[in-house]
Amino acid sequence: MSSVTGVYLPTMDPKARIEELREALHAHNHSYYVLASPTISDREFDALLEELANLESHHPEWADPNSPTCRVGGDLTDKFDKVAHKSPMLSLSNSYSVEEVSLWAQRVQDGLPDEKVEFAMELKYDGVAISLWYEGGVLVRALTRGDGSLGEDVRSNVATIPTVPLRLMPGSPEVLEIRGEIFFPWEGFNALNDSRAEAGEAEFANPRNTAAGTLKLQDSKEVARRPLDCMIYNVDAATMTGLGVLTHADAVKEAARWGFKVPGGRSLEVAGSIEEVMAFVDHWETARHDLPFAIDGIVIKVNRYDHQRRLGMTAKSPRWAIAYKFETERACTKLVDVEYQVGRTGAVTPVAKLQAVQLGGTTVKNASLHNADQIAKLGLRLGDMVFVEKGGEIIPKIVGVDTSASHEEGLFAPPALEFPSVCPECETPLVRAQDEAQHYCPNAVACPAQVRGRIIHFISRKAMNVEGLGKETVAQLVAAGLVRDAADLYDLRAEDLLPLERMAQKSVDNLLAGLVQSKTVPFERVLFGLGIRHVGETVAKQLARSLGHIGAFKSISVEELVALEEVGPVIADSVVAHFSDPNFERMVNRLVASGLQMEAVVQAPLGHALEGEVIVVSGVFSTMSRDEAKTSVVAHGGRLASSISSKTTLILAGENMGPAKLKKAQSLGIPIMDEASFVSRISGQE
Ligand SMILES: [Zn+2]
Repeated sequence: MSSVTGVYLPTMDPKARIEELREALHAHNHSYYVLASPTISDREFDALLEELANLESHHPEWADPNSPTCRVGGDLTDKFDKVAHKSPMLSLSNSYSVEEVSLWAQRVQDGLPDEKVEFAMELKYDGVAISLWYEGGVLVRALTRGDGSLGEDVRSNVATIPTVPLRLMPGSPEVLEIRGEIFFPWEGFNALNDSRAEAGEAEFANPRNTAAGTLKLQDSKEVARRPLDCMIYNVDAATMTGLGVLTHADAVKEAARWGFKVPGGRSLEVAGSIEEVMAFVDHWETARHDLPFAIDGIVIKVNRYDHQRRLGMTAKSPRWAIAYKFETERACTKLVDVEYQVGRTGAVTPVAKLQAVQLGGTTVKNASLHNADQIAKLGLRLGDMVFVEKGGEIIPKIVGVDTSASHEEGLFAPPALEFPSVCPECETPLVRAQDEAQHYCPNAVACPAQVRGRIIHFISRKAMNVEGLGKETVAQLVAAGLVRDAADLYDLRAEDLLPLERMAQKSVDNLLAGLVQSKTVPFERVLFGLGIRHVGETVAKQLARSLGHIGAFKSISVEELVALEEVGPVIADSVVAHFSDPNFERMVNRLVASGLQMEAVVQAPLGHALEGEVIVVSGVFSTMSRDEAKTSVVAHGGRLASSISSKTTLILAGENMGPAKLKKAQSLGIPIMDEASFVSRISGQE
């Protein structure tokens, strides 16, 4: 498929090219929409789609109702209810140059002769389109674009986004459909990636795909932990006209009064000329780098609704709006070296070292190379001049080689880079699981890179927070053979440390004091520091609270773990695998012997009214939040479970408990307790 992503041979048979393009676009479409992990840039995708549309229009005999040109969006998954959109959810046509925008503005003017046309300009948020439905002022549905005519109702997930009103302000329409964009602001996105890295999980590439993937999660609790945002950009014209609001810009202001987050300040403006439109584009071309979220262009709309109606739509997009897409920032620089970094889980990541170059307002010296396939696909050689792009991604990536400026083929050209076959640190042959792109060093026990990675994680701020011990010292200790795992840290003595380079008495004292101090760090952070794959900060906290002490981890089964709150099968498998590994167990036992906190500090129990009960909390409560209800359960001796099973002994049900849960509880004969009975039981008035 790589031949399809760029140039192709113009002599190619058109029929074969059509097939090839359809195939490639279906695959890219799937990667983008279903897997939320794009393989090419939007611009490349648009170029391929345009080429296909062109060929198809010249060869109507090869038309296909399933061609990628016949649909607006992507495949639907089976997880959520599918609902028809009130009106098709179309994409805007894209433009990449000032000329295209001017031509569009001219067509608009030609379609409205003798009219003074006004343009409303706003930011093109780099997120996911959403259609919000309100009835009686209450959010009843939130539909994704889906295939444009049929969307998926992800209301339960969207309802977790604080900028989406669940109830509208008084005076809003009885029935309302309103559209906006859900996106992931940088700050929350970066924090999410930090916590994934800490849990040994792959980091997300960019905020847009992460927002898309988040909306389709089955677990809305996980969604709620990811701080998504929503900005409104379209109110149904018929609704607004009925209310006497006659322009898009005024409609947006009206929506703000109903409780929606809408663009303010310089991010929504009205212009009377194409020059003013281009001034707006120019401003944001630079100013976008200071925004707390990503945008990928500017949307320009004809402001007046009556004008919009007169211009109408094509089959695929409205004639009265256009998106101007910013150029992806790209630079050309020299590939100086490739470093193969081994993480604490053994994953080997190639990182390109570049000659420093300016890109998107920052100096770039490193670029992501993802994996061996990527290096092979690019055919990289050291010294090549490479193109580096920074799209929605945080880490720039190499997208191609400037062959005209790079090595000539021949005797003196360096060979194409080859992914190493052995670990750069311990020389163990690397392994690659079937269907996985990632290489791993399997020498988990002794590979110095993995040992260092695990110890650095253990002493990190959110884990043991050992003062006086940094990455360089850890590297020294591992290299000197003084430390092989976290437990060895607590056996260090001053006489071991003093002979080390740059180790004065004072730094030794600090280090040893830091280690002693770390023995007071609470159990949940010790648990997080152990570096169990998929056990991040939040899960560690939850596990510590549910299981209470380290001993409980040694005997628990996967099934018992899955029944706990916040624990899925992947986490459960990982926990059990770690605690049944003799090396890990030995280390944990030594840490216990060293006096680390291995028991959760439970707040003094408020009572024992719920002792022995395994309780599922469901629904909405009137005198407390669901979290408070759960805290009460634990404080009164009960144990929390996330789903109803034969082990459940009681259900604490608020309002709106789902019918499926109710049925399951009844079929298993589990008693259901309402809020009032719960409150009287824990206060001993039963
Ligand atoms: Zn290794």
